[in-house]
Amino acid sequence: MTELAYLASMDGAYTRSFRARIVARPPGGVVLDRTFFYPTGGGQPNDLGTLRASGAPVAADVVDVVKQGSTVVHRLSGAAPARAGLAVGTEVEATIDWARRERHMRLHTSQHYLSARIFARYGARTRRASLRGREAAIELDRALPTRAIEELGEDVANMASDPRHVRIREVSRVEWDRHPAARSSLVALAPGVDPVRLIEIEGIDLCPCGGTHVRSTSEVGALEIRPISERDEGGARFSYVLVNGGGTTPPE
Ligand SMILES: [Zn+2]
Repeated sequence: MTELAYLASMDGAYTRSFRARIVARPPGGVVLDRTFFYPTGGGQPNDLGTLRASGAPVAADVVDVVKQGSTVVHRLSGAAPARAGLAVGTEVEATIDWARRERHMRLHTSQHYLSARIFARYGARTRRASLRGREAAIELDRALPTRAIEELGEDVANMASDPRHVRIREVSRVEWDRHPAARSSLVALAPGVDPVRLIEIEGIDLCPCGGTHVRSTSEVGALEIRPISERDEGGARFSYVLVNGGGTTPPE
């Protein structure tokens, strides 16, 4: 079992390097006793980075991170000597590719914000959301009016001009299941999840999520909203991209 340290607090999302111990070595990868590497899931791609055995001259590259049951496997590439030092019981220094992680945080928090605003304004729920590179995509269960593109632009401006805190909250499953009509998301929560980890954007949204998020909407920065398209099967879809250098994430 891997301790999912990135989940525990908002600070966990900002952790760029950490120490951990190798507890298993499945083919091509390692399992740590705890990790801040995000494994692919919930529409958010995995982190990348490096693992280096304490005192070793070279690091192995983490090229993929996947959750398998209650463990997280860090798949490795790089030179054989770097991988050779990573035996069970070894302590490692882990470094996360911060530029990539930060992009995912900014995209993920802005996705929750925009999904909530779209639901509040037009009653459209998010069927699916995904992040990749500098881009996020949101699929909705109904079409949006033509003015939506302009209003989404206002939302993006408001994230900076009227910044909202982002927090983690936990509630019991019973409590969470009480008001299904108030949800902006149609993504089903797995049956066994209890308690439910919620990401709260102050005054805007409350959504079950295991992703990594920024502490304030002011860190999202500028976004370019792409045109909204209607889907053949009904509903709408749009994507948006991070504009270079938009974030204001404080240094670690
Ligand atoms: Zn989420």
